[in-house]
Amino acid sequence: MSAAKTTSAHAERLAQVQERIARACRDNGRDPAGVQLLAVSKGQPLDALRALAAAGQRRFGESYVQEAMTKIRALDCPDCEWHFIGPLQSNKASLVAENFDWVHSIDRVKIATALSRHRTPDAPPLQICLQVNISGETSKSGVDVAGLPALAEQVTALPGLCLRGLMAIPRPTDSSATQRDAFRLLRVASEELRQRGHDLDTLSMGMSDDLEAAIAEGSTLVRVGTALFGPRHLSG
Ligand SMILES: *Cc1c(COP(=O)(O)O)cnc(C)c1O
Repeated sequence: MSAAKTTSAHAERLAQVQERIARACRDNGRDPAGVQLLAVSKGQPLDALRALAAAGQRRFGESYVQEAMTKIRALDCPDCEWHFIGPLQSNKASLVAENFDWVHSIDRVKIATALSRHRTPDAPPLQICLQVNISGETSKSGVDVAGLPALAEQVTALPGLCLRGLMAIPRPTDSSATQRDAFRLLRVASEELRQRGHDLDTLSMGMSDDLEAAIAEGSTLVRVGTALFGPRHLSG
């Protein structure tokens, strides 16, 4: 495919996803400005990111630290925002703290402490979402709802971090009612933390196949990969 073709194919997909978001907002009486689109570019080639950036997309989500570092450097986009959304080990925390703007996948205080320690003091705080395990079994990632208040307290106390909200990856299902049940649990968990005094404004929920259900339940940021880019090519 020529570079120009790649660009227009990606611009078209971006417009389609933005239209899905706008329609879901309309259906639920929400302002589309209240839902941000994170382009999940893990496993996608650099040209695809370039094409999407050329079409105006500025928020990118990555799950693998080394792959992300190569892209962040090569894309060289000063006004792009980089979100780390994958499982994170302590030994990669310094790279993430130094090169990303957001981390969505905090489920242990140990990782948060490592990020805090490595965030440059004169940089803006790293924006944090706590990953919550709302639909159990499938994933080992995520803090249980019962453990959320304690983790939120600990993260809030760490310098260099700013707790913004919650993230979840519910078990995939075709039933939009079941999708909404899971997203509702995350919204309720977020409301409970707000009642405890946490100033949260972000619900990171909804992906290519369930963003409508997520927006219906109050998502403020959808993380969309394949609907924007097509199938993933690279592996972590
Ligand atoms: C891969 C991934 C996505 C995007 O998934 P798609 O189904 O391709 O939209 C969103 N969130 C997380 C945490 C991911 O790992």
